[in-house]
Amino acid sequence: MTDRPDDLLLAQSNQALLQHGDTPQGAHWPNAADRRTRFDVMLDVIAAHSEPVVLCDLGCGTGELLAHIRERGLQNIRYVGVDRSAVALALARAKFPEASFIELDVNAADANLDPIACDYLIANGLFTVKWDLSQQQMMDFLDATLTRIWPQVREGLAFNVMSKVVDWERDDLFHVPMDDIARMLHALAGRRIRFRADYGLYEYTAYAYRTDPTPFRSAIPETPLIASAAPEKVPVLRPLLPRSEKLQPYLRRIDATRIYSNYGPLVMEFEHRLTRHFGLPAGGLVSASSGTAGLVGAILASAARASTARPYALLPAYTFVATAVAIEQCGYRAWLADIDADSWTLDPQRLLAHPQLDRIGVVIPVAPFGRPVPQEPWLAFREKTGIPVVIDGAAGFEGIAEDPGRYLGEIPVMMSFHATKSFATGEGGCVASTNIDLAARTTQALNFGFYSARDSRCASTNGKMSEYHAAVGLAELDGWAAKYAAFRAVADAYRRQLADAGIAGRFLAAPDISSSYALYRCESTTQAQRAQDSLRENSVEFRLWYGAGLQHQSYFADNDHGDLRVTEAIAPCVLGLPMAADLTEPMIARVVSALHSGLAADS
Ligand SMILES: *Cc1c(COP(=O)(O)O)cnc(C)c1O
Repeated sequence: MTDRPDDLLLAQSNQALLQHGDTPQGAHWPNAADRRTRFDVMLDVIAAHSEPVVLCDLGCGTGELLAHIRERGLQNIRYVGVDRSAVALALARAKFPEASFIELDVNAADANLDPIACDYLIANGLFTVKWDLSQQQMMDFLDATLTRIWPQVREGLAFNVMSKVVDWERDDLFHVPMDDIARMLHALAGRRIRFRADYGLYEYTAYAYRTDPTPFRSAIPETPLIASAAPEKVPVLRPLLPRSEKLQPYLRRIDATRIYSNYGPLVMEFEHRLTRHFGLPAGGLVSASSGTAGLVGAILASAARASTARPYALLPAYTFVATAVAIEQCGYRAWLADIDADSWTLDPQRLLAHPQLDRIGVVIPVAPFGRPVPQEPWLAFREKTGIPVVIDGAAGFEGIAEDPGRYLGEIPVMMSFHATKSFATGEGGCVASTNIDLAARTTQALNFGFYSARDSRCASTNGKMSEYHAAVGLAELDGWAAKYAAFRAVADAYRRQLADAGIAGRFLAAPDISSSYALYRCESTTQAQRAQDSLRENSVEFRLWYGAGLQHQSYFADNDHGDLRVTEAIAPCVLGLPMAADLTEPMIARVVSALHSGLAADS
């Protein structure tokens, strides 16, 4: 052993662990409750989003942070524990055999730091105890460690030290002025740093970020540690797909045939049943691995890839990002157009006067929240301009089936079967068209450009649906009548309760839009803000499904667009309220009451 300060810290922490075992004291914490508070404050470094993030727990010890993460049900965290102590890691691995724990000395000259590359890094208690080290040695250790790990951190990091603003300091603890830490972090992250000292302990937590941080969620754990009267959250969406028993017969068929993809028997049966469901000619419905993949296939089949003469695809600013993502995959640049105030989608009549019409290679009208787009005006548009049209009818499953003659035709229509859509296979989608050649070209574009021969003959991707997803789709079709009826009953219950509260006028749900949405159109952004505050206060989740428009999504912010005043006015006012096929009357009552008090506060 050398005389590096790190070595002394390691030896001391091993000794504490051996003496007290896998307890808070074994990690030098006085008690379990304070340790949980620290975990929560540290976890606040992670911005509130549901996408998976990699979290590195530096100085993870016996992996208690992971236990806490599981207890809180934070499912989007991909955890990596890092420590130098083999003793602690052995205990951690015994508790969590499937998790990653890495033995690594990050300050060793030859350390390979690749394994700690992460979105967020937390170091809880690594810099709070200095034992016999001098203040300067400890500062050097902190500085050296931060400088080494920062390049591996993509979003932000958090660590704690002891406060100087205390009645008395302990000699063995590391009390540091905030200014000293601020100076150190400033060298790494500029002004994107913050401190928290509001959680009742004799320490503070320092945070550093790569980009401007979002507001803290809360140090208060969402799952109360002690039983409390806090009401259960009403989730904005709780998908309900066929239960495993319903999948069994189909899965057994997969076992028997050993065909797992490439248009196997289940995908063929699923396509066939959907073809009949929509009254299409044989071959008019093509399955896809997702709605987005379906759009890519339909665009490639109808318009091919972007050309220098026609580099743009025209789409409404008010849609889910998938529409723009798909056109980019086909080489186009998005041209965002405003929506019509009544239909909430593109107006073909108005587009005829678009200044860049001769530079547009494809137009993608979107069925807003599943309200289907009629074929007829777009056929006329296509006729007049010669520009191919593909309809993003992602959430249109029910609406389209109500009147296939009006909503399906020569122009291909994509539908999504994502878990959040009413008819769902988990991931999945389809393209429907009465033009069989076009449908065949879509299949080809979704299968490496192969069609009847193993020769790649056109621009393509791999967007095939697997047999497993088709199994879910077949089971979903078996139960669809019942699921749809359940959705409709929830929509009707909403209407009834909203009418009783005198606020039904601005509510939108099935059958006017897809049954997976319950929307409330507020009169103004101020009113929407108040309604949102009230929903939040009453633990009712909500969502702006299409955000504030694509022009506000970072990646698409500098795309060309025309005047977007209708999108700007409508988008922030359309609140997505909780919806699920099994949403109960009492849950609906809580939503309605929260909404009502938010709207009442307006007058
Ligand atoms: C859901 C949705 C999509 C994307 O479908 P995926 O199946 O998730 O790829 C595309 N456009 C709109 C309007 C959607 O709502």
